[in-house]
Amino acid sequence: MQSIMDFTKSELEAQIQPKFRVKQLFGWLYNRYAESFEQMQNLPKKMQQQLAEEFIINPLQIAAKQQSKDGSIKYLFKLRDGHSMEAVLLKMRGTEYHEDGSIKHLPRYTVCVSTQVGCKVGCAFCLTAKGGFVRDLTPGEIVAQVIAIKKDNGLEANRKLNIVYMGMGEPLDNLENLIKAIEIFKDPDGPAIAAGRQTVSTSGLGKQIYKLGSKDLGVNLAISLHAVDDELRTKLMPINKAYNIEAVMEAVKAFPINARKRVMFEYLVIKGVNDDLKAAKKLVKLLHGIKAKVNLIYFNAYDESGFQRPEEKDMVNFQEFLLSKGITCTVRESKGLDISAACGQLREQKDEESQ
Ligand code: SF4
Repeated sequence: MQSIMDFTKSELEAQIQPKFRVKQLFGWLYNRYAESFEQMQNLPKKMQQQLAEEFIINPLQIAAKQQSKDGSIKYLFKLRDGHSMEAVLLKMRGTEYHEDGSIKHLPRYTVCVSTQVGCKVGCAFCLTAKGGFVRDLTPGEIVAQVIAIKKDNGLEANRKLNIVYMGMGEPLDNLENLIKAIEIFKDPDGPAIAAGRQTVSTSGLGKQIYKLGSKDLGVNLAISLHAVDDELRTKLMPINKAYNIEAVMEAVKAFPINARKRVMFEYLVIKGVNDDLKAAKKLVKLLHGIKAKVNLIYFNAYDESGFQRPEEKDMVNFQEFLLSKGITCTVRESKGLDISAACGQLREQKDEESQ
């Protein structure tokens, strides 16, 4: 049976009449975290029964969670077919300025969600890739990760948070379901997470970047670039054979970006591989003419990777060079490092590992 969370509001409106019932249904699912149709008291009993005969609500269960020293929580979710995948709740310090002049310090939440079980892209530095590809997640399985995490942390439905499609899988390889999930998230009667708070992170599937851009959903784009020449990028990311650096940059230039936003370029810094000033100079050249910001990420070494974490001084030199050229550049804290929740470190847990 399919989850009702797999459907956008307009898809449900095509099946359920009158339309305002769908609005009520969305309210129960995404703002009141209902777990059964019976709970939806303002829906007619008959409709509750019909819905229960046709759909399930929640397509996943929390199977395990692990808290990192920095406050991040990694969730392992079990899907109904027995497969599993992960999402991570990242907490950062945030400040809110109010019209009355008051300032509130509230944690800023970002949920890093998965879009597939496993991944086909096969990046050399990625633990997810090592497990191969299993299947795409449905829209409901993408959306339910955030809803389950909000509920588990007692976050009110209207609590603002950010979503990054940066967990397991290549989101643009599951484009149709990704687009539906984005639409469900941004629905004002549903989770109401504005598109500007959602970032799609891709390994650079050129054709799909154009397709996502043509939908003009208002989401942010992040590109995992990691290398500045094709030879190295192909070694790190075999997808570069299909879409080389030039092809990725062309697709990025065509992507509609909100006037106040920039395209994020993720650059995983690996010791002795792409951490020198020669690479930094090439990167500046590549980004010419693009409203870009760069996020330098410390590579988190793990046993089988064969790569090493960069030296802090090389990271600083790299960052300072970009800043000196007027490029916004941050160094990503390795959040969740101690629980293998950092980028490229999510993978399907085998049952014995998750117990
Ligand atoms: S880094 Fe992302 S795109 Fe590359 S193999 Fe891992 S999950 Fe797939």
